[in-house]
Amino acid sequence: MDGNFWNTELETLSADELRRYEAPLLTQQIEYLYTHSEYYRAQFDNAGLKPSDVTCHEALEQVPFTEKKDLAQTQREGALIGPHQCAPSSDIVRMVGTGGTSGKPMRIGWTRNDIHAYNEMGTRALWILGCRPGDLVLNCFNYSIYAGGVMDHMSFEHLGATVMAYGVGKSRALLDMFADIPGDKCLYSTPSYAVRLAEVAAEAGIDPLSLNIKKGFFSGEAGLQVPGYRQKIEKTWGMSTHDLYGIAELGCQSAECEHHDGMHFCGQGYVIAELIDPDTGAVKPMRDGEKGELVYTSIRRQASPLLRLRSHDYVQVKTSPCACGRTGFRFLTEGRSDDMFVVKGVNIFPTTVQDVLHDLEPRLTGEFQIALNSPPPFDYAPRLIVEVSNNVPRSQYEALINETEALVSRRAAFAVRVELVQQGTIASEHKTKRVLRNYEA
Ligand SMILES: [Zn+2]
Repeated sequence: MDGNFWNTELETLSADELRRYEAPLLTQQIEYLYTHSEYYRAQFDNAGLKPSDVTCHEALEQVPFTEKKDLAQTQREGALIGPHQCAPSSDIVRMVGTGGTSGKPMRIGWTRNDIHAYNEMGTRALWILGCRPGDLVLNCFNYSIYAGGVMDHMSFEHLGATVMAYGVGKSRALLDMFADIPGDKCLYSTPSYAVRLAEVAAEAGIDPLSLNIKKGFFSGEAGLQVPGYRQKIEKTWGMSTHDLYGIAELGCQSAECEHHDGMHFCGQGYVIAELIDPDTGAVKPMRDGEKGELVYTSIRRQASPLLRLRSHDYVQVKTSPCACGRTGFRFLTEGRSDDMFVVKGVNIFPTTVQDVLHDLEPRLTGEFQIALNSPPPFDYAPRLIVEVSNNVPRSQYEALINETEALVSRRAAFAVRVELVQQGTIASEHKTKRVLRNYEA
């Protein structure tokens, strides 16, 4: 395992060995939560559970789920973090925000120990991803409030990489910065930003290949797992691409190794992951090919630990051995279970549409949004807004619309009404929202 000095012993334990290692941490975390968190004490009491009932992974199933929207509500009622806060406010040394459900960011607190744990786990993920001490990384995530900025920046430093806090926007100046810095560089951003940046380069007459960005580390969107999208970015930039997955409340806990065969879960000793059926909430076995939603429990957290947090990330699990030797389960992201919508009985993920649109490149740029204008059931053809390349003449628009509608209907098995918009209007510098729900929930 290429001289990795980050907790490799935990990454190669069998599932049973790992459960034995984590059980005391889980027991301790549950006791701590029950003693210090008003919110979780009430959850346990209402469910008729005592902390001593939950001392192993299997027993977690009895514990109610935590939904982000419930926690966000508590912040609207005037708390700093909310009634799930455990550590005293004087011990909280950092706060970040996470995309809330109401458009307002939800605040997350971190003690010194929490930050150390975030860095350790983040470094493990970055190492899997192929980042090494000495790599020069330009971090193009938003430093204002969100975790991808400061939090991940610190993980790169913890690993020993050289990281520059670039942030979002100023794309044209970013290209100059890349050109000015000698040698090989790395980009850390969303995959759609790599696509956007290539458009800015094209407008400025800059050849992306001349900038020597050799590694692209991507997070925040599932796009890289869509066939064609990765190849497009690699070809445009001449870079290798590496997928990272994390959620702001818990940290970066999964990454793709050099074999590109799904994301390795690497939260061992920090976070317990469960797979559930998103409709019934029942726990499913972590076996090869199984699909479901990932649910996370922090087991070494002080400020505001979360129990069975629903990620709403819908994945397919892989447990076949990986050539890198890591034993943690791997997964392929199919999409957000909140982004999934059902049209006449067919489950649709934005990634399905992305895959179809890829076949119409370069006439279409591949960027798109789906607009749902009235609440479910979706028994109508939703609007599919797609970007058309600048070099397609208007006289071809109508034929292109017809062709796109026919292809989506044939390959994704649902009807859409296609609307073309100009290149550069959809891809954003933060996460691109693929499904627009234009109705009251
Ligand atoms: Zn591997």
